[in-house]
Amino acid sequence: MTGIRTVLGDIDDFDGAAYAHEHLILDSPLIADRFPHIHLHDVDAAVDEVARCRAAGAGLMVDAMPISAGRDAVRLAEISRRTGVHIVSATGLHHDRYYGPLHWTNRVGPDELTALFVADLLEGIDEFDYTGPIVRRTEHRAGLVKVATSGEDPDARDLRNIEAAAAASAATGAPVLTHCEGGVGGIAQVERLVAAGVPATSIILSHVDKAANLAYLRDLAATGAVLELDQSLRERADGTSSVTVRAVLALVEAGFADQIVLGTDGARRTLWSALGGEPGLAWLASDLPAVLQEAGVGAADLHRIQHSNAQRALAWRTV
Ligand SMILES: [Zn+2]
Repeated sequence: MTGIRTVLGDIDDFDGAAYAHEHLILDSPLIADRFPHIHLHDVDAAVDEVARCRAAGAGLMVDAMPISAGRDAVRLAEISRRTGVHIVSATGLHHDRYYGPLHWTNRVGPDELTALFVADLLEGIDEFDYTGPIVRRTEHRAGLVKVATSGEDPDARDLRNIEAAAAASAATGAPVLTHCEGGVGGIAQVERLVAAGVPATSIILSHVDKAANLAYLRDLAATGAVLELDQSLRERADGTSSVTVRAVLALVEAGFADQIVLGTDGARRTLWSALGGEPGLAWLASDLPAVLQEAGVGAADLHRIQHSNAQRALAWRTV
């Protein structure tokens, strides 16, 4: 397999813009209880929101929720079917706040995790999302491995998860999508993933514009990894007062236009038009391109940033 693995099958390419870090379903008892502002459970609402993105030019979305933290492959497949937008699901583990100290994921070793990640990637995601003793694999497979770290330097849990994610990626050729807490920690992530056999071009570093540090972004890009910028929807700032727009300009100017992808990280219910919020996830495809062009990003670079870079970064490697 050398294409992109979506919940409805493998594809080589897609039409339109990629949304590289999204949250369409986030439905766990822990999220409902502790993080109700990001509790996303309604397929009809998601279909409404994603259809608006489709109308604005979206063609593919990465749903960035991994194992046992609110993911639902069956609902993602239904959203994809009903909207025509390709959806890539994640395996791997998220930040510890979505699990808690007593969770089973904190009581197993890297090899046990790797086996679960690989089964998600190659066989099919568990209908119950590894939340109980019964595993019933669906036909919907994960298309990448998610890994999160919690700050500048990875802690013991982070290191175990990086080891497991890297092993699953090295065994299958699937790309890795990372969560950078507060935007930081990306350099350590790339160093460790690359040392464990994942090529930098197969690593997508999320939320890195949150750090609002252009020198750090250039250092990250110099590793060869792909940078996912996703603060623009929250900011909705004009032109170069936006940290995301400034980040894109700085990276393009430094010769890294091939390593930028965009997302919304739009988990907050208040960002969804379908839930009465604003500006709506469609903003990324409908409004941001004009903002970037006005700021000086050329049409060819814009196409790379919206489409080609994600198409390349999400493609599996031959292993
Ligand atoms: Zn996220």
